[in-house]
Order: sequence, then C-alpha cells, then structure tokens
Amino acid sequence: TSLFAAVEMAPRDPILGLNEAFNAEKNPAKVNLGVGVYFGDDGKIPLLAAVKAAEKARLEAQPPRGYQPIEGTPAYNGAVQNLMFGKDSELLAAGRAVTCQCLGGTGALKVGADYLKRLLPDASVYISDPSWENHRALFEGAGFPVKEYAYYDAATRGVNFAGMKAALAAMPAKSIVVLHACCHNPTGADLTVAQWKEVVAAIKERNLVAFIDMAYQGFADGIKEDAAALDLFAASGLQFFVSSSFSKSFSLYGERVGALTIVTDSKDESARVLSQVKRVIRTNYSNPPTHGGAVVAAVLSSPELRQMWEDELGGMRDRIRAMRTSLVANLKAEGAPNFDFINVQRGMFSYTGLTAAQVEKMRADYGIYAVGTGRICVAALNTKNIGYVAKAIAAVLK
Ligand code: PMP
Repeated sequence: TSLFAAVEMAPRDPILGLNEAFNAEKNPAKVNLGVGVYFGDDGKIPLLAAVKAAEKARLEAQPPRGYQPIEGTPAYNGAVQNLMFGKDSELLAAGRAVTCQCLGGTGALKVGADYLKRLLPDASVYISDPSWENHRALFEGAGFPVKEYAYYDAATRGVNFAGMKAALAAMPAKSIVVLHACCHNPTGADLTVAQWKEVVAAIKERNLVAFIDMAYQGFADGIKEDAAALDLFAASGLQFFVSSSFSKSFSLYGERVGALTIVTDSKDESARVLSQVKRVIRTNYSNPPTHGGAVVAAVLSSPELRQMWEDELGGMRDRIRAMRTSLVANLKAEGAPNFDFINVQRGMFSYTGLTAAQVEKMRADYGIYAVGTGRICVAALNTKNIGYVAKAIAAVLK
C-alpha cells in the first residue's frame, strides 16, 4: 500500500478557505470582507510609491544575490529597531535589543516560539480570547500548551479588562503572554495606554514573559502612537519579545518581510541570545530572502522615501477610518441597531457582533463573505460597495 494511504485530509484554513469559496462565487455584486488585506478604494492591493521607487533603484543597481547573514542585514535590523523604539531609545543605545529579519510576522513568531521552547521548555503560552487564528497552532506546533486569557467583551464590543487582569494574576511565573500591540486581530478592540501600564505592571509582578505581536504599526493612530505599548515595556526594564510584520504597513504581503526582536538585560546577554536564535534560524531556513528586506531598509533609511511612505501609510489609516465612519452612518440610514462601536475599534478588523447564521445569510443572499465569528475586514470596504454591505447587514439583522 501507499505510504500515504492512511493520510487524512486536513481541515481547510478557515480564512484562506473563505477566499477559495469567494473566488467561486457567481453573484456579480460579491464582496469579500473575510481577508486580512488592505485594499484601496479601487478594490486593489496598493503598490506603494515609496516601495516602487526603492525597487526601481534596486533593479537599476542590479546587486548580486549572495546569501544574507543568518539574522539579516544590519541596515534592515537597525531600521526596524528604530521604527519600534525610536532612534534615540536608551534601550537600543544600551545594546539590549537583538533583531533578526524573519519571514513575515508569522516567521518571526515561529522563530521566537522555537527559541522560547529551548529557553523555557516547561512554560505555557497564553493568547487572547479570541486571537489571530494562527497563534494557537503556531505555538502548539512549537511544542507549547496554549491557553487563553479573557480579552473580548461581547456586551460592550470592547476589552474585558477586569477579566484580562484576573487572568494575568493567575498565570504561573515564566508563562508566555502573547499580546497584540495595536489593531487587535480579530476584534479591533485595543487596550488604552492606562490599561497597558497595568498590563506591564502585572507582567513584571508575576514574572511573566511578554511576546508582543506588532503586525499593524501605523494602522491605528500613527507610527509612534501605535508603539505606545512597546515604549512602556522598554521603560519597564523587562525582557520581552516582539514580532514585527511589514506585510500591511508596506503592502508587501508576498515578500514576507518581518522581524523578531528580543529585548535582553544587557549587551552581553544580547550577544549570547543572538547566537542561540541564529541556530534556530540556521536549522529552519538558513537565512532570510534579500528583496523585501532591502526595499524596507531603503525606504526607512532615505529621508525622502520615508516621508513618502509615512504619507502613504497615513492615507491607508485615514481611508480605514473613513470607511468605519461611513459604515456606521450607512447602517444608521438603513435603520440598523447602533453600530457606533465600529468607530471605536481600530485597525483593519471589526467584530461586528453578527452571528454565524447572519454571516451565512449575507453570503447566501448577497454574496458578501465574512468570517463566521462576525469579523469583517474594514479595509475591504470602499465607496462603491459600502452601501450594498450596509444594506445587507441591516437586512440580515431584521
Ligand atoms: N499577527 C497578526 C495579529 C496578524 O494579523 C498577522 C497577519 N495578518 C500576522 C501576525 C502575520 O503576519 P505576516 O502576514 O507578516 O506573516
């Protein structure tokens, strides 16, 4: 018999599976609100002008494609650190941060998880309830038991902060806590700065290890504002992990550009930690690809391209905000119940409170695709489809 005779079909990825179903949808008015991608008002994934300019220069220079260092280039890693902590950061000056270029935010989480498994083999990982659908599988895949901490409050469509604090207070020392720096996926419900202060204090008091997932820097309030949680962790003196993704902020999804940063206690620790993380990378994929990282480094290090990128990022942020406001107004005009919370939620996603049955009705009756949990991607709305979507939501709520 075949080696694979007994292999079972794995379940489809819930979100990528939704894309396949959407592509096969016959309704000409169809709208895909299931994906986690930013689209412009024209319904297309933008190629940023700053990225185009950096790519053009790179193409003209025709650099050779040798192997990169295992951890990526200093130009890229340094630029990532400055973006997260600011170029005048004391933490950076003290040599307390180790950064490695990784394959997107997912790759950064995976390298961090594999390294943590060697550092803390008996720890448990805690993710928010709910969280990005890959967090659990990723940390379980690295060998950790994965548990949840209270996060989303369906009644207020905000954060159940009392529940979150109680969960933190009950975690065993050295537990790993995965936190979303901003633009929480899937709910859109973020912590306030005052709440972050309490989280940092609880993590310090309980001797927990924070792993901050930063996939949307610049999508909520601004580059610096969205790093507020990182600033608090930096000031706390704690050691912690950060995964960064530039998939959204540079619209470079397929180039797989991200980074893992580990904050240690000293320059000397950083050198030893880096040597160990390099072993994890070397035995996984050896070293990262060249193009995406080189483009991001070029944009971030040229004052002109950087300004261009900040303006374009601001444009994406403003468009998402405008779609939130417009959706709320359109729903009101359709006579739907109060959706004001959509203006409070931040980033690409919104938990709408729609039930699985209502989401299914939107698909069947309108060809509008959303995740069964009621999550919609606000960045997939545009001036042409928003009226239709609001009508559909109002109709399935009747
Ligand atoms: N973390 C979160 C919270 C995300 O939403 C995503 C992707 N949408 C990622 C990590 C992964 O990012 P990437 O696509 O760069 O791997």
